[in-house]
Amino acid sequence: MQAVHTDRDPIHAGWIAARLEAEGFGVTVRNYYLGGAAGELPPTEVWPEVWVLDDREAEAARARVAAYLAEPEPDEPDWICPNCGETVDGFLDRCWNCNTPHPEEGGAPP
Ligand SMILES: [Zn+2]
Repeated sequence: MQAVHTDRDPIHAGWIAARLEAEGFGVTVRNYYLGGAAGELPPTEVWPEVWVLDDREAEAARARVAAYLAEPEPDEPDWICPNCGETVDGFLDRCWNCNTPHPEEGGAPP
């Protein structure tokens, strides 16, 4: 096992892990639940860490993480569906309710 990413934000660490998993890497997140234990330990000791289970995948996983981090901010704001008026999470490019595409998602495939 090797750590391939350390993140002070557990949600972001989880997002990295989920993306690696989606690409077929075996990953686990350590320290995910220790945020509340911070205080006596140096902060970096309790930051969530993304680990790959197979050392042979570590190098490739780090390259993927670097690519993710180079992408624009993933936390897109929620948007309001122009068709049905529902609030849709920013990472969705279609309305969860009526499948209307994001109004500003220009050029996205149908
Ligand atoms: Zn809708």
